[in-house]
Amino acid sequence: MSNKTLAIIKPDAVGNGFTGKIIDRIIEAGFKVQAARLIHLSREKAEGFYAVHKERPFYNDLVDFMTSGPCMPMALEKEDAVNSFRSLIGATNPADAEAGTIRKDFAENIQNNAVHGSDSDKNAQKEIAYFYTSNEILDY
Ligand code: ADP
Ligand code: MG
Repeated sequence: MSNKTLAIIKPDAVGNGFTGKIIDRIIEAGFKVQAARLIHLSREKAEGFYAVHKERPFYNDLVDFMTSGPCMPMALEKEDAVNSFRSLIGATNPADAEAGTIRKDFAENIQNNAVHGSDSDKNAQKEIAYFYTSNEILDY
């Protein structure tokens, strides 16, 4: 079991002014933020990040959305980080997300769903490396 995951506060949540509230939920839930930075994704960078969804009907709209404004990728650490973070954010569609989850409280819809969370330890490692070099991940 790994203890790291990649989170992204997506452009809807940044634009709606929820960055601070979401970071607070993350820290309150026991995660340590080891890297964070506000960036505006290029089309190429967003396409690469979601390459696994290339054949899905929502792919182009998803890339449009992820490049529509700044977002904040974060490397998070906690025991069983991937599963713990997926529980904290709730279901992909906020309409199906449990009460008290980040998506339930801050997402707009199934696409503009406030946050990303890695879905496996392997992908967490890959996704963290997609945004941060190892010396940008701060252990404390
Ligand atoms: P999750 O982010 O919960 O792991 P997926 O990996 O299945 O969900 O999808 C990646 C992202 O693509 C979602 O977070 C959401 O922004 C978008 N998405 C997923 N399914 C749909 C859909 N049916 N319609 C529009 N956008 C979607
Ligand atoms: Mg996913």
